[in-house]
Amino acid sequence: MAQRYVRVQNQEGQVYYGLLQLSLDVLLLDAPPWMQGQPTDIKLAPESYQILAPCAPSKIVAVGKNYADHAAEMGTKVPPEPLIFIKPSTTIIASEEHIMYPPQSQRVDYEGELALVIGDKTVCCTPEEAQAKIWGYTIANDVTARDLQSKDGQWTRAKSFDTFCPLGPWIVREINPGARLQTFLNDDIKPVQSTCIDQMVFPPDYLVSYISQVMTLLPGDVVLTGTPLGVGSLQLGDRVRIEIEGIGRLENTIVAR
Ligand code: MG
Repeated sequence: MAQRYVRVQNQEGQVYYGLLQLSLDVLLLDAPPWMQGQPTDIKLAPESYQILAPCAPSKIVAVGKNYADHAAEMGTKVPPEPLIFIKPSTTIIASEEHIMYPPQSQRVDYEGELALVIGDKTVCCTPEEAQAKIWGYTIANDVTARDLQSKDGQWTRAKSFDTFCPLGPWIVREINPGARLQTFLNDDIKPVQSTCIDQMVFPPDYLVSYISQVMTLLPGDVVLTGTPLGVGSLQLGDRVRIEIEGIGRLENTIVAR
C-alpha cells in the first residue's frame, strides 16, 4: 500500500503531520511532509488521535465543468479554458465530520473530485514545471448549494458554506492516471458517479500551470479538479462516500445547520 500522509490532533489538542501505519498508529513528522518534514520517534496509538483534513491550505482553487459529461448534464458546453473559482479554507472538514445543510438552501449537491496538494510556491509555471509542484493527491467533496448557484449567478455563496469541503482522509504521492472516482450514497451498492480521472478535459498539470498564471499557489494549497457526471442532491441524514482508486474513501453525513 502507498504511504498515507495524515494530519492528526492528539488528546491535548496539538496538531501534527504524520505517516499512517498499517497498525493505524501514526508516526509523527517534525514538519509538513512537503516542507521536508522528517519522521520523529513519536508514535500515536489509534485511540489517542483524531484524524483531521490532511492539509491546511491558504486557499482552495476549484475548477468547474472539467468533465464533458458533467458539463452536458448541467446543460452547458465545456469552457474553452478552465473555469476557476475559490472556496474559503473554512469550508474544510475531515472525513467522518458532518456536512451542515444551510437553512438558506433547498438543494445541496455532492460533487466527488480528485484534489491536488501543492508542495512548493508556484508562480507562472509551465505544465511541465507544474507536475513537480503537485506534491500529492487526496479526495474532496465540492459540496454546492445548487439553487443559490443559479440564483446568485456567481458562485461564492453556493460554494462557501462552512463544512462544504470535506477533504481527505489522507494524501498519497502518486496516482494511476486511469484511477476510478466513484461516489456512493448511503448503503446503495450502485455508485451515483463513476468515472476515470483521465476523462478530465484539462489535466492536473495544465490546471496548476493555468492557475499559477493568475495567483501564487503556496505549499499545502489545494486544487479541486472538477466533478464528473452524476451530481445529485443530498438529504438530511444521508451519508455520502467518495472513493478514488489508490487513495481511499472520504465519508460524511449530512445534518441540519
Ligand atoms: Mg466542483
